[in-house]
Amino acid sequence: MQNFIYNQPEAKCDFCEATENPHPDYDETIPITRIDIGKKRKLTLCINCFFMHKECSEKKGHSLVAYLSKLNNLSLILNKSNKKPQTQ
Ligand SMILES: [Zn+2]
Repeated sequence: MQNFIYNQPEAKCDFCEATENPHPDYDETIPITRIDIGKKRKLTLCINCFFMHKECSEKKGHSLVAYLSKLNNLSLILNKSNKKPQTQ
């Protein structure tokens, strides 16, 4: 079972960039988990993204780590080609 970190002050999902628990009953930061995808890289996933990607990877017959590593490579490419100015 995956361990989630609750109420981490700096919690932020690497995929959807969520920082707040979306559940209206919880006034806290989003529950996150860290996944080691190899090459000394770790991804931070929120609880929603974790279960979403876990299901997707299982449907495709990939391990979660392989799946996330692929997604991470893609999102790095997207970030480079799609730089937006910070609006906050
Ligand atoms: Zn997320």
